[in-house]
Formats: sequence, C-alpha cells, structure tokens
Amino acid sequence: MIQYSILFKNMENNSNKNKILLYYKYVKIEDPELLRKEQYDLCKTLEMKGRVIVAEEGINGTLEGTEAFCNAYMNHMKADPRFSDIHWKISEGTEDMTAFPRLSVKARKEIVSLHLGENDFDPNETTGTHLKPEELNKWYEEGKEFHIVDMRNDYELLVGKFENTIFPGMKNFRDLRKDLKKIKELKDKPVLTVCTGGVRCEKASGFLLKEGFKEVYQLDGGIVSYMNKYPGKNFLGSLYVFDKRKTVHFNNEKSHQTIGICKKCHQKTEQYVNCANLMCHKHFLCCDECIDSDKMGKNGVILSYCGIWCKIKDIIRDTFSKKIKYIPVRF
Ligand SMILES: [Zn+2]
Ligand SMILES: [Zn+2]
Repeated sequence: MIQYSILFKNMENNSNKNKILLYYKYVKIEDPELLRKEQYDLCKTLEMKGRVIVAEEGINGTLEGTEAFCNAYMNHMKADPRFSDIHWKISEGTEDMTAFPRLSVKARKEIVSLHLGENDFDPNETTGTHLKPEELNKWYEEGKEFHIVDMRNDYELLVGKFENTIFPGMKNFRDLRKDLKKIKELKDKPVLTVCTGGVRCEKASGFLLKEGFKEVYQLDGGIVSYMNKYPGKNFLGSLYVFDKRKTVHFNNEKSHQTIGICKKCHQKTEQYVNCANLMCHKHFLCCDECIDSDKMGKNGVILSYCGIWCKIKDIIRDTFSKKIKYIPVRF
C-alpha cells in the first residue's frame, strides 16, 4: 500500500514547474511483478509519465512530473531501504508535460538489455571503480592518460561526446561482447566507461573487468552529471536523451558548440529524424533544409528518407500496393 502521508510531505515548498527524473538501482527485487504494480499505482497517483523497468536485478526509470510530485516520488522511494541511496538526476521538464507520451511500467529480465544469458553477473559484486565528475575533470586538467569507452548507441554519439572518446558507440548495447575486440589493445590501460546516467556502465564496466581489462573506471552519475557540473567543458555538443527533448545541454546558447552534422548536406544540426521508409526507420541527423518528406511519425517524430534507395523502394511499394487495391471487382 502506498503511504500517502509520506508522498505529500513538504509539498507546499515546491513550485509547479515540471521536472524529469532519471535514476536506477541494482538491488535484488524478490517480486518484480509486485513492484511493477506498486510503481504503476504510484506514478498514476502522482500523474507522472515516462518509463520504469523493474527486474529481479533492480529498477531503472525516467519520469516527468510536477516538481511537487517528483519530490513526492523521491520521498516515497527514499523511505524504502532498497532504494534509499539512489543517485537522482533531475533536469528541467517540458512546459506542458509532454516529454513522454504516456506512462509505461514493465517487468523484464534485465533493467538494460545486455543479453549476457548464463554469463550474466551482479554489478554489486563486479563493476568498475566509480569516478566522480570532479575526479574526471582533474584527469583532464592534469593531462592524465586515459581512454573513454562510450557505452551508448552510435547514433547518440553523433550530437555529443567526450574528448578522448575512442569507442565509436555500438549499434546496440547487446553488441558489447562482439565490439570489445575493437578496444582489446587497451586491456592494460586506464579506461573510463561513460553513458547517459550511469546504468549501462554498471554492467558494462564489470563486463570489461571480466574480459581481462585491468584498470576500469565508470563515470559516476553518467554524462548528465558531468555536464551539469561542468557545462560545455570536455563533453562536446549535446547529450542525447530518450524523450521528446531528444538533446539537452546545460551551457548557454552563445557558448554552445554544435558537433552534429546533417547526414545529407553536412551542415551543423542537432535535429534527429527517422527514415520515412518504415522498413529502414534509421535514426539520423538531418537539417531542416534536407527534410524531403512532410510525413510526421508518431508523437511528432519527423520523418525523412535516409537515402535515395529508401525513397525509391517506398515509391515502388506504394505504386504496387495501389495497383492491387484498385483491381475492379464485378459481379
Ligand atoms: Zn542538411
Ligand atoms: Zn532508410
């Protein structure tokens, strides 16, 4: 049962601005289905939208709500000993609470899909050394030798990444095992894994240790914590996020440096679109001038063909399906 008195404690001090919470915790969950139901009821009560994934290995969530309800949510979680020490990452929400189209709370096998199967392990036992943003900043300032292994997907790196990033990102986090050969020469060197909020690194850095990497660190609180503390420093460009905002940065517009490049004309842009050919649906950067389709996808996603072949295939398919549709039937 939800303790409503805890939820609404100290609410009068809060504004009604919307906030976005990002958090995770690897901790043994005895009954994921029960937690899923509790989380769903809690988020519904607090009128929050976003995604929560629970599994036997823990919980991972990103939610938007009013500041008052976000505080109520965090109070509720802090009262549970399993979640009392969660590192909350809080950022500005949208004006009209539309960062996420709906609320989704799911029970799954893993809180991030790494698909290690029988080689899966508990990151509370094996994981890289947590490196605070302040320590990383010091590494940069001192010119220490280290290599950043970015554990995000390749399209996320197109708009922003750290200096010293040597790993070009993966097609999918599941590819980690296969892609590790690209960095095998770093087994004896200091490597620092990074990802958006830290959840992917808990497992990924542990996996590197298991694969024989000797000096493995992970960025505590993820890229978002570093950017918050050192806006515009060492992390170039913007951070990709999995909601309507698509990208965020914390420095002012004047000093902001755009590193994203339109796939078609190579002008600077931070606009992501999806390929209008639904069989391809590639997620890529495309500037306003190069959008060649006025199709809108679900939830306001902009669609544009990623290349001429995707466009041609669609035209052929359209023509073919129209022909089939208009075969006259007479009795
Ligand atoms: Zn362009
Ligand atoms: Zn395409």
